[in-house]
Amino acid sequence: MDAIAKWHAECKAQEIVEILKKKDFNAIYAQNSEAAKKIVMDMIPEGASIAVGGSVTLSETGIMSEITSGKYKFIDRFNTPSFEDMLEKYREGFFADYFVTGTNAITKTGELVNTDCTGNRTGAIAFGPKRVIVVAGVNKIVDTVEDGIKRAKSIAPMNAKRITHKTPCTIDGKCHECHDTQTICNITNIIHNCYKFPGRITVVIIPEILGY
Ligand code: SF4
Repeated sequence: MDAIAKWHAECKAQEIVEILKKKDFNAIYAQNSEAAKKIVMDMIPEGASIAVGGSVTLSETGIMSEITSGKYKFIDRFNTPSFEDMLEKYREGFFADYFVTGTNAITKTGELVNTDCTGNRTGAIAFGPKRVIVVAGVNKIVDTVEDGIKRAKSIAPMNAKRITHKTPCTIDGKCHECHDTQTICNITNIIHNCYKFPGRITVVIIPEILGY
């Protein structure tokens, strides 16, 4: 990103932070990935239980490495011997002190939009864990909820490939509106605001291109 593009990304990030604050999200501007990592890890006390949503952004920012460093009680649903064990970890995640995740989209009217395969991420963002921390680059910002749903669908082929689901989109990179049991597009969730539990959801916005 050159200096002008960086400036533009900073403007976008700062604007969305103010929009989200008006909807009672705990929105925080982070000047870069390193700063975002510090903001997130400073929020979580050592020993706290943490569950995560599958997220390239968490890996790219280094947050995932911190979460799995041994300082926290990481609810690890990635290394489970069976599907049933994984589901148990998902369920455990609903009682986590912190749920840390990326997001598929953030609208310019202050909504979070996510499409899930299992619903562990969409469910946990909506209710369950005491605190939710969403980390996002400016590439996640869209105009409307409809654009957010479209964005989620447009990146789903990459996520399907990442998690090795055998869907038609992993062949040619395009959505085929599949009705396959392997589809990762089962549940779409819109968080309209944070009024019910002010500040429960923190959104850290970074003026970088992160994740899909
Ligand atoms: S609906 Fe099916 S084909 Fe379309 S993106 Fe989702 S998983 Fe892929």
